[in-house]
This record gives sequence, C-alpha cells and structure tokens, in this order.
Amino acid sequence: MRHNEKDKYGLRVVIERLPIMLLSQIFVASVCLSLLTIDGFKTWESYKERVRENTILSGNLARSVAQNAEDTIKQADTVLVGLVERIERDGTSRAALERLQKVLVLHVGELPKLHGLFVYDATGRWLTTNRNMVLNANNSDREYFIYHKTHPDRHVYISKPVHSRSTGEWIIPLSRRINRADGSFAGVVLATVHMKYFRNFYDTFNIGRDGTIALVHMKGAILVQRPFQDERIGFDLKNTPLFQEHVANSPTGTYRADSTYFDRNERIVSYHRVEGHPLLAVATLSEDEVFRPWWMDAAKHFAITLILTIVLGFMGYRLMRQIGQRLDAEGQLRDAQNTLESLNQELEQMAWLDGLTGLANRRRFDVDLNEEFHRAMRREEPLALILIDIDHFKQYNDSYGHIEGDKCLQKIGRVLKSCMKREGDLSVRYGGEELAVLLPNTDEEGAMVVAERLISAIRQMNIRHKDSPTGLVTVSCGVHALIPFRGRNIPADLLQAADTALYAAKAAGRDQIVCASKLKGTE
Ligand code: GH3
Ligand code: MG
Ligand code: MG
Repeated sequence: MRHNEKDKYGLRVVIERLPIMLLSQIFVASVCLSLLTIDGFKTWESYKERVRENTILSGNLARSVAQNAEDTIKQADTVLVGLVERIERDGTSRAALERLQKVLVLHVGELPKLHGLFVYDATGRWLTTNRNMVLNANNSDREYFIYHKTHPDRHVYISKPVHSRSTGEWIIPLSRRINRADGSFAGVVLATVHMKYFRNFYDTFNIGRDGTIALVHMKGAILVQRPFQDERIGFDLKNTPLFQEHVANSPTGTYRADSTYFDRNERIVSYHRVEGHPLLAVATLSEDEVFRPWWMDAAKHFAITLILTIVLGFMGYRLMRQIGQRLDAEGQLRDAQNTLESLNQELEQMAWLDGLTGLANRRRFDVDLNEEFHRAMRREEPLALILIDIDHFKQYNDSYGHIEGDKCLQKIGRVLKSCMKREGDLSVRYGGEELAVLLPNTDEEGAMVVAERLISAIRQMNIRHKDSPTGLVTVSCGVHALIPFRGRNIPADLLQAADTALYAAKAAGRDQIVCASKLKGTE
C-alpha cells in the first residue's frame, strides 16, 4: 500500500519537474539560437551592405573612366576638327604646310596627353607632323587610313592601339578624313594619344591587387587595360557575356560574374558607354578581395558567438542540473514527510485501537463515553450502552487453548462490527473477553434490538464450545439507556447499570439480554 503511494508520488515529482526542466531547456536553447540567429542576420546584412558598397564603387569607377575617355577624345578631336578645316581651306602647298607644322607643335605643346599630330596625303605619304622630322614613310596600310579612304563620313575615327612609327611607344590613333573641294578623298589628319596617359590615370584608382580597368572599343577590341599586358591590347571581347548579355541590353550596368574576359575569378563587373563615341569603360573588382575582410570579420564574429553560446549552454546545463537536484531533494523531503505523516496516522490509530480485534480500545471508549454522554445531555437525547461478556470463556480457553480463544474473540469482534448499522455507533473491546457497544441517540428499545441482533448473530456463527450447556459459544448482554441530566447523572452511572444488568444476565443462566430498567422494575 505504502509502496504504491510512493510510486504515485515519484510520478508526480516527474510530472512536476517536467515543465520547469523543459521550460529552462527551451529558454537556454532559445537564447543560444537567438544569439546565433542575430549573428547570422548581422553577418548577412553586412554582406549585402558590402555588395552594395562595391557595386556603387565599381559603377562609379566605370563612369569616371568613361568620362575621362570622353574628355580626352573631345580635346584631341577639337584639334583634329580645326586642322581639317584649315587644310581644306589653305591646301597643302609648301608654305601652308610650314605654317601648319607650327600649329601642330603648338597644339601638342598645349595638350601633353597628345603623342603627336600627323597629316597624310591621299596616298598615305607624310605631309607634316608636329615633330621636326618628316619620315619618308607611308601610312596607307594603317587601319584608319583605309577606313577614311573608303568611307566618306566626317566623324572622328578611333583605331586599335598601335606602336608609333616615330617613337615605338603604344599610342591610340584618332583620325579624321580630309576632303578635296569636290568631296573626294584628300588625305587623313591624325592625332595620337599616349596610352601611358590612360594607364597613369587608371593607376590612380584603388582597385586592390586584382581589380581591373579597361577601355574597350564597341567592336570588341581592348584599347587600354590595367593591369597592362602587351598581348591584351586589341584582344576581342565581342563574344564574351559582357557584350553578348549585358552591353547588348543596357548602355551601363553592374553584374556579378564567375568569370570575365580577364580571368576565371568571381568579380563585380561594371561597364559604362562613353558618350558620343563607340567606346566602353569596364571596371571589375575581385570578389575574393572585396569579401576577404568580410569573411574574416564574419569568422571572428561567429567564433565569439559560438564561444558565448557554448558557455551559455554549459551554464544552462549546470543550472538545469541544479534545478533538477533541488527538485529531487524537495521530492525526497516531501516523500519523507508523507511517510512520517502516514506513520503518525497509523500510530494514532494504533493508540485508539485494540490490537487483537481491531475494535476501539478502552482508552477510546472512555473518551467517547464522556463526549457522547455530555452531547446527549446537551441535546437531551438518549444514550445506550450494551456490555457483552462471553459465556464460559475460561473453559473455552482451557479446552481449546488460548490461541483458539483469541481467534474466537476476533470472530466475535467482527460480528460485533457487522451488527453496527449507524456511523456513530462505537464497538469496543472493554477488557479481556468483555466487549461493549456505545449507541448515541438510541433508547433502550433500540439498544435491545441491536443486542438481540448481536446475540443471534453469534449463535448463528456456530462456534463449538463443548463445556457450554448450549454446546456453542454464546454471550450475555447487559443493556442500559438513559437521557442524562446535568447534576443528576454521570457517565459511570451508565456503566454501572449496564454492568449490573450483565451480571443479572449471567445469573439468570447466560446467553441472554438483561435490560437494567427491567431490573429496577423487579427490585
Ligand atoms: P462467565 O463469564 O460465563 O461467568 O464465565 P467466564 O469463564 O467467562 O468467566 P470470566 O468472564 O470471569 O472469565 C474471564 C476469562 O476470559 C478469563 C480468561 O481465561 C478469558 N480471557 C480474558 N481475556 C482473554 C483474552 O484476551 N484471550 C483469551 N483467549 N482469553 C481471555
Ligand atoms: Mg468476563
Ligand atoms: Mg465470561
């Protein structure tokens, strides 16, 4: 019985500690998770910010390069326009060429980015140049010469870079066609721009070790590129995704690419069309370089957050263990308290009960008799007492032994209990083989009914008793009932009268009930 209660109690402890353990686990886990999520979110945000910043940076870069190209070409072309107008007006007589040569020198002196100015006749022969030498050379094989000879348009023409015939350095030729009065081809005026000028300008930008800047002809050829590589000059980009997918759709743009015209590195690529000329400025930044600081930052953050999470998780685990231990201790304490309480209850019960029969003991009887007596007195209700004594019990013991005697007593105790119908009735082992029944709010008549019921129930048990005249175990009962009056009656009166009645029952031959009132009547 107690074992079952302990099981139930243990289960309750488990159920009680479940929510608090679960809650604290959820709490610690959610704090750790929040830390990691916040860190992840911040890292992702800073990644996006970095992409945004560098997209703007490379876009601005491409725009500056385009603007620079546009300005440079405009300056050189302004000179070309003036020269064409002058030659077409003044012709190419010796005197005119001499004057022209001075003008060329003047222009080149004013514009240091110009490498040289040249005038060719319709056959490609050098007519004059800013330099104080006219090579006996022919430039009719140059791309720009062939173009102007075969195209009547009067726009400035930008050629692929070439090595200068006069100085050997890389130059970018800009040219215009000279017409005769009838509109036929009269020659070409050429301005060459130092490629170095562009390279120096591109070198002023901070694009990291792996960034690139390029000026590309819309036909696809690279004109200038940082980092500078001889073999890249004139390299055709027409079939790269830059031209096929991006430039074809929009004159400016920025995109991220796994590989570019330059290498297979991941890059942020920006391009910008040069206003008014068939040129494209392209700037790229290496993603590896752009995101390296971000990666390092993210790794540092993650490591710190991870350490924090581990520390927090460990502390949470320790805390949960302590909570668990405390709950266990509380449970054990409550367990002990409960055991103590139930033991106390048992002890208390034992103090009021008779060990052999399980009926109330004499101590309980004395207390209850006193209480019931005074209650009956207050309420002016009757209180009845039946005293019961087993007949010839001494002989029973002698014949069957003391142990059998005890068993007989237990049986009679059980019968006595079963005969009590009302809750307030108290059955008692008064002493030895004497029993008693206290019946609150019961008059003599009622008590007689109970006594009759009892006596016949004991007879019906048919407990053999060879030394009794009836051959069975029987009992004699003395009954008395009264409504106690203050100042006239005391509890002992009830006892005394019942005892006298019992004595009379014994005297009258046993196995019978004698009522005290009847005795008085006969006296
Ligand atoms: P009667 O009452 O009919 O006059 O005869 P009796 O032999 O019963 O006489 P009495 O009531 O004086 O007997 C008391 C006997 O009851 C004494 C003892 O042998 C027996 N007795 C008393 N208490 C116990 C008990 O706890 N166990 C057993 N087995 N016998 C008991
Ligand atoms: Mg007796
Ligand atoms: Mg007896």
